[in-house]
Amino acid sequence: MVDRPDVALDDLYREVVMDHHRRPRGRAPLARVDATAHGFNPVCGDEVVISLALDGDRVTGAQVQGRGCAICTASGSMMAEMIPGHTAAEAEATAAAFRAVMHGAPAPGGTDLGDLEALEGVQKFAVRVKCAMLPWVTLTDALKAWRDGGNEATSTTEAQEAER
Ligand code: ZN
Repeated sequence: MVDRPDVALDDLYREVVMDHHRRPRGRAPLARVDATAHGFNPVCGDEVVISLALDGDRVTGAQVQGRGCAICTASGSMMAEMIPGHTAAEAEATAAAFRAVMHGAPAPGGTDLGDLEALEGVQKFAVRVKCAMLPWVTLTDALKAWRDGGNEATSTTEAQEAER
């Protein structure tokens, strides 16, 4: 395997993804919900409900519920771990950076994607990109609805991806 150094990396990434899949973070209910959105990916059948607690414009807690494939579950788990403590704008910037990477572009401005980097290989599989994006598309919807004064939104990755 000396001639294929990428293999070890892939294994490491797979381990990160499977760890999030087996023990998804962010399942515990929040004491207070300030924004929520429901997302559905009809291609795979993934379904997520994202709930957020916000203090001012800072996300203080995130809960991810629903049923999805390993990639969707891992992506949602990573999100639940990453965004608390960050502002809504920072969470949206991370979502945008992850979207760029999933579409084969470099992360803008050298954004640190943390564990999300483990999902980079997913970009090679167009159908799977929707699985990885669903929690983030839904997060963006939740924050948009929260800004607009409502607190609930529904989306599908199909609709979102088609707009771009
Ligand atoms: Zn899926």
